[in-house]
Amino acid sequence: MRRELDCDCRAELAKLEAADLRRHIVAIETPSGPHVRIDGRDVVLMCSNDYLGLAADPRLAAAAARAAKQWGTGSGASRLISGATVLHSGLESRLAAFEGTQDCVLFSSGYLANVGTIPVLVGRGDLILSDERNHASIIDGCRLSRAEIKVYPHCDADAAESILVSATAGQHAAYRRTLVVTDSVFSMDGDLAPLQKLADMCDRYGAWFMVDEAHATGVVGDGRGAVHAAGLTGAVSALVGTCSKALGSLGGYVVGSRALCDLLRNKARTFVFDTALPGPVLAATLAALDIVESEPERVRRVREHARRLASSIRTLGYDVSDPAAAVVPVVVGASDQVVRIGDHLLSQGVLARPIRPPTVPECTARIRLCPMATHTDDDIDKVVDAFAHASRYC
Ligand SMILES: *Cc1c(COP(=O)(O)O)cnc(C)c1O
Repeated sequence: MRRELDCDCRAELAKLEAADLRRHIVAIETPSGPHVRIDGRDVVLMCSNDYLGLAADPRLAAAAARAAKQWGTGSGASRLISGATVLHSGLESRLAAFEGTQDCVLFSSGYLANVGTIPVLVGRGDLILSDERNHASIIDGCRLSRAEIKVYPHCDADAAESILVSATAGQHAAYRRTLVVTDSVFSMDGDLAPLQKLADMCDRYGAWFMVDEAHATGVVGDGRGAVHAAGLTGAVSALVGTCSKALGSLGGYVVGSRALCDLLRNKARTFVFDTALPGPVLAATLAALDIVESEPERVRRVREHARRLASSIRTLGYDVSDPAAAVVPVVVGASDQVVRIGDHLLSQGVLARPIRPPTVPECTARIRLCPMATHTDDDIDKVVDAFAHASRYC
């Protein structure tokens, strides 16, 4: 049986290879930072979500080391059994205050926050409206909920409204609840959802509104994300964030009302049946929140780098739109071309991974650039120069 399984696996891998879709893991030899070493070579890191350069910040490492000495490395159980410590509740209070909500629930990752939360909000007999480019964890949460899922065209609030109107009109108006769910900053396109229009629509139709701020926290506005920057905190039923990107640590969270958070603690399966995060990770996130609040220049700097990358690379003739945060996609089209450009960039000392279908739609393979606050202007110039010499691969 084992031989047959291996044979099937190799056949699947060969198919991926033939379609230029096989992925390879590159092991990095140094901590996360504006430069890293790969195969003994120093390269500019341009594909990390460590937007503020905090993942290897000595202050986070020191906080984590202190917590490891005090609390150890494992929590031993789920929150509802014996894994909950005052560190967990302390970080939840801090995140709720940071986001301006009543309460917060921590999950082990942003992925688990989405997958656990959506099935609590909606189930069989309910309706979900979901942006076609939503993150995989939202898609998986929607599927697990067993609600009816209607996917609307990317960032098109008018289309979402038409779908909502026709889905709830006449005899079919049998849905118990409707949930509208979107990324705020989209992970592969770097653009911003029409949050105000979606919030107004939810208000008009009595729908719940869920927003995932994974790429906005620490980057948009004063670092509190796109919902806060738009003054929409009160209009969002459930806001999802991650501690694993700009906050340089690990974990996910949902902020919202006390009632919502209490319900999630009771019913979200990825909360109830998952071991609590360990102390060092919580302490690191707390240290990161201090830095976001005390060093706003980091937040400004990463966005400035993103804007400059986008405008300079567009000037070279590439398809790049203005970034809403710090995700800058250079859309190339074909998977084989984007792989060759990725190889070229690496030969020029720039690590930026090609992103191919099915992660992005067919024919929109891209190089996704993510600058960090800790990059220098010279680093950004080096990336632009590398693109200047890559056009022969298009
Ligand atoms: C990365 C990401 C997640 C998952 O967060 P993790 O903490 O990495 O599990 C969820 N949603 C979006 C939009 C993301 O980009």
